[in-house]
Amino acid sequence: MACDLPPHPPTRAEQLPRLPAEIFDVLIVGGGINGAVTAAALSARGIKVALAEAGDFAGKTSSSTSCLIWGGIKYLQNREFRLVRSLCKSRNRLMEAYPSAVREMRFLAALDRDAPHRPTPIYLGAWLYWLIGSRATKTPRLFSVGKLGEAEPAIQLGDMRGAVSYSDAFLPDSDARFVFNFIARTWRNGGCAINYLRVLDGTYQDKLHHTTVEDAVTGFTTTVRSRAVINACGPWTDPFNKSRGIKTRHHIVFSKGIHLVVPRVTTCNRVLSFFSYDGRPFFVFPLGDRSCVGTTDTRVAQPETEVNDDDRTTVLSNINRYLGKTLSPSDIIAERCGVRPLVVQEEPRRGVDWTELSRKHVIETDNDRRFLTIFGGKLTDCLNVGEEVVEAFGEFGIPGHEPREPWFGEPPADERDAFLAAAEKSPEPIDAARLWRRYGASAWHLLERLEANPAEAHEMFEGTGLLAAEVHYAARAEMVLSLSDFLRRRTLIEMERGLAALRDTPALGNVAQILFPDHAYQALQAYVDRGAPAPAEP
Ligand SMILES: Cc1cc2nc3c(=O)[nH]c(=O)nc-3n(C[C@H](O)[C@H](O)[C@H](O)COP(=O)(O)OP(=O)(O)OC[C@H]3O[C@@H](n4cnc5c(N)ncnc54)[C@H](O)[C@@H]3O)c2cc1C
Repeated sequence: MACDLPPHPPTRAEQLPRLPAEIFDVLIVGGGINGAVTAAALSARGIKVALAEAGDFAGKTSSSTSCLIWGGIKYLQNREFRLVRSLCKSRNRLMEAYPSAVREMRFLAALDRDAPHRPTPIYLGAWLYWLIGSRATKTPRLFSVGKLGEAEPAIQLGDMRGAVSYSDAFLPDSDARFVFNFIARTWRNGGCAINYLRVLDGTYQDKLHHTTVEDAVTGFTTTVRSRAVINACGPWTDPFNKSRGIKTRHHIVFSKGIHLVVPRVTTCNRVLSFFSYDGRPFFVFPLGDRSCVGTTDTRVAQPETEVNDDDRTTVLSNINRYLGKTLSPSDIIAERCGVRPLVVQEEPRRGVDWTELSRKHVIETDNDRRFLTIFGGKLTDCLNVGEEVVEAFGEFGIPGHEPREPWFGEPPADERDAFLAAAEKSPEPIDAARLWRRYGASAWHLLERLEANPAEAHEMFEGTGLLAAEVHYAARAEMVLSLSDFLRRRTLIEMERGLAALRDTPALGNVAQILFPDHAYQALQAYVDRGAPAPAEP
């Protein structure tokens, strides 16, 4: 091995006993992007962090997104220049810090007669966007209808007026994987982060929070003592604050968004965008070897939602219209559904366009009780959230130190090059760049496994690139408690293959066997029945 292997993170069973035994500087409630990035940022500064996630990491909104790291070109319409500038800066920082995991992606906005603007104003807007984004991406291009047809033969040209291409960024390994890597970083920093651990009630006495948490696997409860609490519950922010008696000026309202995964509708590896029937932007983006189509933007009263027939009809009719397809619900391979937690100061006035509500984030603190709430936010904005939380947390007077190394980002390029060079000597040919992108320095563990056991270079599900070695690694190091955790969030397999097809794949049983050698059958059954995590722990 050309490199000292980073240690494996402690397992869930090793982390759980820390909860009643230690006094933490902070308990972070919620393991979506906001909680995960907060945990990584604080733990890098020597703050003793515990994070509790009621389900799996990124199990809610943060695994239902469009996987875009974008500056929010559409917010230019509402003249939200400061928001766009801040999102573009965030996007650029992420692209720089994660050269493999956050990729520049070309967007092709095809504009027909129903689009709210003609191609030329949109082209000028794209240049403004490019300038606001510090010219960090490739320049925009204007396409005539003829050129559009050449560039993207799948698009129906009938009513088209032209197209504009511009760049933003994309998470090829998924939103949930991106979030998980902040959790893994928290573990490396010595933080305690546990999934399937619901935070119940709590009290604040003598400058300590005493919070009851319940382990969903065993049903046991315990008390976590912490100097501070951070509410990163996303759509569930308000009820959590209410349960703690915390009053805030801001609140959350919900906008439901869905995506449908369908067979590839275009061979081009770019994001296509159109204006949907109701004039809202609508995307087709590559998801592994499939296409993902969406999204919608519907106000809902509750955060618990699911895809309904209206959603399916809306999305499929849009794609059929622009790409001349005849996709029906039977073509849907998988679905994604979540609510955007949008921050408002009070209930939006009647008549305000719902989609014009800003996607900003807000941090509120109660310094007397050392309680911090994160409202709203986006994947794109995660570094700002992390840094603003660190700053606000400073007011609590809990000492930390400057990070000893960057608190986010991939390892330096020379380490990557050393890994890629070492991987070339692997007994079996492997896609080393993919491993580096997904695992960073921990990819060395996989290389070690593959050297010791070349049979683990075997691809588990044809066409997905997932190696047996990765399943073994996840079993040991990624706190996987159910097949869903692995197939839906640590990887994109369920999205690419669909639950129905997976059920008939012998590889599913093999994966269950590797992940849960003691209870593979129950895990398989729970997955097929779409249940909660299997009762026994790996
Ligand atoms: C359809 C859609 C598309 C989007 N597309 C993009 C995009 O392309 N790019 C982008 O930047 N942003 C996008 N967003 C926005 C972004 O994804 C969200 O704003 C972000 O993921 C919210 O993260 P969060 O951590 O606040 O919430 P969540 O991810 O929902 O995390 C909150 C967590 O708190 C946990 N929790 C709640 N109560 C408790 C409790 N009592 N105890 C323990 N845990 C608890 C929940 O289980 C949940 O996992 C999109 C959003 C949607 C819905």
